[in-house]
Amino acid sequence: MTRAEQEPGDRPQAPVDPEPVVHVLWLNGGLGCDGESVALTAATQPSIEEIVLGGLPGLPRIAMHWPFLDFECGPDSGADSFIEWWHKADRGELDPFVLVVEGSVPDETNKTEGYWCGFGTDPGTGQPVTTSEWLDRLAPKATAVLAVGTCAGYGGIHAMAGNPTGAMGVPDYLGWDWKSKDGIPIVVVPGCPVQPDNLSETILHLLYQVAGRAPAIDLDEALRPRWLFETTVHEGCDRAGYYEQDEFAERHGSPKCLVKLGCWGQVVKCNVPKRGWINGIGGCPNVGGICIACTMPGFPDKFMPFMEHPAGGNTPAPVRAVSGTAIRVLREIRVAR
Ligand code: SF4
Ligand code: SF4
Repeated sequence: MTRAEQEPGDRPQAPVDPEPVVHVLWLNGGLGCDGESVALTAATQPSIEEIVLGGLPGLPRIAMHWPFLDFECGPDSGADSFIEWWHKADRGELDPFVLVVEGSVPDETNKTEGYWCGFGTDPGTGQPVTTSEWLDRLAPKATAVLAVGTCAGYGGIHAMAGNPTGAMGVPDYLGWDWKSKDGIPIVVVPGCPVQPDNLSETILHLLYQVAGRAPAIDLDEALRPRWLFETTVHEGCDRAGYYEQDEFAERHGSPKCLVKLGCWGQVVKCNVPKRGWINGIGGCPNVGGICIACTMPGFPDKFMPFMEHPAGGNTPAPVRAVSGTAIRVLREIRVAR
């Protein structure tokens, strides 16, 4: 009934409670390069605009507190007090919220003074709040924790041997068996940087899950969404036919398999050759770049040196030579007919 249709004396109807807003707190104060934030601006399936503006059916209303979106606001000043949302969450005034972590978490206990990285300041002390302290404060109150990019997932570049920060991923910091107060495990979407649609699709699924409209995300042993990371790069690579025929590129610019130039695709879980990078275009080996295993725990140390034929993980050369030659000859006969 509209106001115009109301009879005098009609009691006004109580407003229906709006659906609670799901807040998304994006903590990009870890050790990282903001690559995941940049990647998200390129997502199309779905786009971040569709998520933020509620352009998808059944999506809960969300409020995104993300430095890339609130570009007018520094952590402590600007058009609104951006960091106040973090303090609200810390005081228990924000529920539900999803905590997104970008960048690896340094070990702030491994030195006698200073800090490795932080995000905003504590109004009580005027001192920076370190990234690990935000995790200590907010993870117990979050509905879900999403670690985006290989740095936040597994430590990444900053966890390389010789780095003094003691950097680690969120599961190493909170514990691999950690669950939120709502029973949701840490979700990791790795990549250096993450593939844009892998990230936006996982955010979307998680928001549906938080709203009770989707089942729990099925995660693999490295806490990655299984539907995105269950196949290897090699299984989706445009060049796999050449591998099968024992034909290998000796230099860049060749359409043949890149394994002898250092491609790790056979043992790496990643859907990028299938999915492409933006709108289906691109995808590391498909466009001439070796797979350097950037979605994997242990990256990069475990997969170095790059640009060299990976040791192990390949079909033994004599077996491949025999089977590859046979396949190539049979294909040539078939094509010729
Ligand atoms: S380029 Fe890499 S992923 Fe592609 S077929 Fe060769 S080894 Fe496999
Ligand atoms: S194909 Fe390899 S290098 Fe490329 S995004 Fe996937 S894991 Fe990273």
